[in-house]
Order: sequence, then C-alpha cells, then structure tokens
Amino acid sequence: MSRTQLELHIDFTVCEGRGLCTELLPEVLVRDDWGYPMGRGGRDVPVPGSLADAAQDAVDLCPVRALMLRRVSRA
Ligand code: SF4
Repeated sequence: MSRTQLELHIDFTVCEGRGLCTELLPEVLVRDDWGYPMGRGGRDVPVPGSLADAAQDAVDLCPVRALMLRRVSRA
C-alpha cells in the first residue's frame, strides 16, 4: 500500500543561496556554510502536512523560483 507525502524540491541550478526559505521552514531546512539550503534529509525534502502552508509560502517567495512543492507516492 502506498501513501502520498509532500516533498520540497530544491533546484540548485538556479538557487542563489541567502536562505530566505530556511527562515520560512527552519523545521526542515538548514543552511550550509555558503548559505545554500540543505534539507535535513537531502535535496528532496519531506514536508509534514502541518508545514504545507509555510512550504507553499517558501515556494511563492523564492526570488528565482528554485523551489517546487510536489506530492509523491511512498511505498
Ligand atoms: S529562497 Fe530560493 S534562492 Fe533563496 S536560498 Fe531558498 S531556494 Fe535558494
């Protein structure tokens, strides 16, 4: 049986660092030594449903559209 989960994808080909998204989602994102966001679990960051609105805000406010929120199936 599979279930769906929200996942935040970071496109590092366009991300400029500076970390606005890390300020909006400190529960799931941290900054690396150069200011780029790092998911606590990697490039594709699982987002709990309770943080869906904050994640959408991060997507909407990213100045270079480097974030994508998507729903993925997990086995
Ligand atoms: S808000 Fe966008 S450009 Fe800024 S660090 Fe996050 S993903 Fe990168």
